[in-house]
Amino acid sequence: MERLGMPISFQPPKVTETPATGFFAPPMTTKTTRSGIFRQPSSTITAVNGFSQLPIFTKSHGNGFLRTPVFGPTANSSKIRKPSRRIPRVLCRVDKSFLNMKPGPCRDLIDMSLHWGDGSSQMKTDVVILGAGPAGLSLAEKVSASGVRVVCIDPSPLAVWPNNYGVWVDEFSPLGLEDCLDHVWPLASVLLDDQKVKYLDRPYARVSRNALKRRLLEGCVTNGVNFLRAKAWRVEHQEFSSLVNCDDGSAIKGSLVVDATGFKTPFMEYPKNRNHGYQIAHGILAEVEGHPFDLDKMVLMDWRDSHMGNEPYLREGNRRLPTFLYAMPLGPNLIFLEETSLVSRPILSYLEIKKRMVARLRHLGIVVKEVLEDEKCVIPMGGRLPIIPQNVVGMGGNAGLVHPSTGYTVARSLAVAPILADSIVDCLGSTRMIRGRQLHSRIWNALWPLDQRMVREYFSFGMETLLKLDLEGTRRFFDAFFDLDPYHWHGFLSSRLSLSELAMLSLNLFGNASNPSRLDIVTKCPWPLCKMLRNIALEMV
Ligand SMILES: Cc1cc2nc3c(=O)[nH]c(=O)nc-3n(C[C@H](O)[C@H](O)[C@H](O)COP(=O)(O)OP(=O)(O)OC[C@H]3O[C@@H](n4cnc5c(N)ncnc54)[C@H](O)[C@@H]3O)c2cc1C
Repeated sequence: MERLGMPISFQPPKVTETPATGFFAPPMTTKTTRSGIFRQPSSTITAVNGFSQLPIFTKSHGNGFLRTPVFGPTANSSKIRKPSRRIPRVLCRVDKSFLNMKPGPCRDLIDMSLHWGDGSSQMKTDVVILGAGPAGLSLAEKVSASGVRVVCIDPSPLAVWPNNYGVWVDEFSPLGLEDCLDHVWPLASVLLDDQKVKYLDRPYARVSRNALKRRLLEGCVTNGVNFLRAKAWRVEHQEFSSLVNCDDGSAIKGSLVVDATGFKTPFMEYPKNRNHGYQIAHGILAEVEGHPFDLDKMVLMDWRDSHMGNEPYLREGNRRLPTFLYAMPLGPNLIFLEETSLVSRPILSYLEIKKRMVARLRHLGIVVKEVLEDEKCVIPMGGRLPIIPQNVVGMGGNAGLVHPSTGYTVARSLAVAPILADSIVDCLGSTRMIRGRQLHSRIWNALWPLDQRMVREYFSFGMETLLKLDLEGTRRFFDAFFDLDPYHWHGFLSSRLSLSELAMLSLNLFGNASNPSRLDIVTKCPWPLCKMLRNIALEMV
């Protein structure tokens, strides 16, 4: 809190927020929810004690009326005011922030039949894949296509994936997955500030989680993958095989174990001092009364900060550790909105992100009628790769496939799956019988060949640079970045460039940059640059 310029003694309550002034003036509505009856004001509330420019955080006592207003710090007060203990004479009505709206019950299961394995009698197989996320299923499908036996373990293999995935269309079309997109925007926009918008002529899409998962599961069923509904909790290694023990008592022996359990994996070993950054975001799929965005453009990044005009402590925090809005307008009244910290270290507070989002939506006049889904997004970015090689092979979010400068992973995991599968089939599917250490080394090297490790160092340099930029620096950076030749900025975001192409990109970026941005690069980048060069040299040795 102190880091964000917020006084320590000010404790924002986890409660309903009522704007004192501003854009947002929802009509009076009464709604019964699980937590009681909420009443919304028909006009903006005038504060009763002279704090009229302030947001008023209010505590609801369950009857829909305020008893205890709590005030944020003022724009013009240098001293910190303690929250008033006086009970105001006028009782205000509670406005229901979208943060208090809970999405409906959890998502359904995908309706299809799988081959269920029997783990009670120590099943034997070639490859055991832990996790049925995008990474695990795509690998299971590809490996099994060559006749290698695969068992995939997940607590709920048919559950609908929880995250909302966005991708560039040109990442999905070469994979033959265009029909797994449920909404395509021909253009994307980047709003740098109130004056400057960049339109990106590159179609962007929202992935249909159901269609993609169904497609991968169908492939797995056709190829004879066995599924186990369980949670892996321990992996024991022998010389040429590994034993996976699950929480339901089942055990599966395989020549190879692939861990695709996502970021929280307990099975993957990383070097000490991983030193990664974090992307953190709060997203909602919401039914709204309306929104100001064009339906043919998704908003990749909205860096405007005018919504914090009346909230200086939020503005100051945002100036130093900026967040942006990512928005997918799906219809006039349906939108996916996500307030995002591109990368921070240490991680930016989730509460701070939510407060900024409340202020932003209020300023944009977006009145949320219903939250259909919400997501907390925490993505470890950059940092050191897992130890290579090790007995368990990583795949997806836990294997360093997250783009260190953007946090995107899905398209990369899907693109890497066939490469990894070829290498696995080459070792296990032939008569060469490559097993044990040799097997692990080969597959890790297929996942992370030397050139890709060096490219990743460059992306991590990108992340380290972003970590050093404040709001103005970030705006200047993206101003120059999206002016690059599309081949370069597309290739950078989609991990398609070689190291020499990335070097060329850097020169062009420097050439495109404004003078203040060049100064940023010269003053803030030398240390990350040295680190990158040192790591590349170490990789080459
Ligand atoms: C909220 C959110 C939004 C994101 N949005 C995007 C985006 O728009 N675009 C993008 O490219 N990337 C996005 N990412 C990043 C990344 O693509 C996702 O995290 C992606 O889901 C990673 O895929 P995965 O298969 O590696 O892991 P996961 O999707 O996390 O799947 C892991 C699977 O393993 C299972 N599992 C966990 N533990 C065990 C165990 N012990 N035994 C067996 N199974 C286990 C889980 O149940 C789960 O099914 C997002 C991430 C988050 C968190």
